Amino acid sequence: MIMKGKKGLIIGVANNRSIAYGIAKACKREGAEVILTYQNDKLKKRVEKVADELEVKHIYPLDVTKEEEINALRESIEKDYGKIDFLVHSVAFAPREALDGKFINTSKEAFNIAMEISVYSLIELTQKLLPIINEGGSILTLTYIGSTRYIPHYNVMGVAKAALEASVRYLAVDLGEKKIRINALSAGPIKTLAASGIGDFSEILKYNEKNSPLRKNVTIEEVGNSGMYLLSDLSSGVTGEVHYVDAGYHLMGMPLYED
Ligand code: NAD
Repeated sequence: MIMKGKKGLIIGVANNRSIAYGIAKACKREGAEVILTYQNDKLKKRVEKVADELEVKHIYPLDVTKEEEINALRESIEKDYGKIDFLVHSVAFAPREALDGKFINTSKEAFNIAMEISVYSLIELTQKLLPIINEGGSILTLTYIGSTRYIPHYNVMGVAKAALEASVRYLAVDLGEKKIRINALSAGPIKTLAASGIGDFSEILKYNEKNSPLRKNVTIEEVGNSGMYLLSDLSSGVTGEVHYVDAGYHLMGMPLYED
């Protein structure tokens, strides 16, 4: 019961294959009270199912591009729960056409969308939710090794993840004054809704399985446990870091790209 007595908001559950679901499940198992959001009405039913399973009292609408929804979320949480101890940002998006083919063809529109949804949202959520995060709290975002290495088709999302990881380092200093931590968890490839938008994703899964030291792909349960550790007091000395849970794949050389 490592998370007993803690309450946290987990953003990014789309269904029970989401990485955010794996983290929510691990937190709940260790005694935390979990709060969820849903991006839109299309995803609401699936999130409700997860909410039932994890005994979540309230779910709230949140499209991170809508400032008024972020403000409303803060007010609702304050009213329904008071303060929280942790926040998970497990959100990313880039238009499908930017996640296939060559990076050189990235449009300004796709670049801006990827950066707004996948990077700025972390900054804005941290800024706006900070007043309701308890001292000693912990924030976690999800990243991928495409931030520091070439990964076929990851393209603009690799640039967004590099910006996300840099944002974590800058936010860590601002939040450190309030004894709040922030880290990024770099997960190996997992078949989720978001991943289905990446070109040749099944090839990436196969490559990773063959080339990582553990000769396997990670599961959302494994990512969930690492995420829970970073949200818990067990990681009280850890902030501003990128923590890998990718079966050791980051230790290996450049992936080869065969066209
Ligand atoms: P997912 O599709 O289950 O989750 C992505 C979430 O982003 C969804 O819940 C979706 O509703 C949300 N989202 C997208 N646009 C949004 C918006 N405008 N407002 C609010 N929410 C929005 O997929 P996932 O793989 O679990 O992705 C979660 C995070 O993990 C992402 O940051 C992703 O880049 C990262 N990640 C995924 C992998 C992987 O291989 N699946 C690997 C490393 C990192």
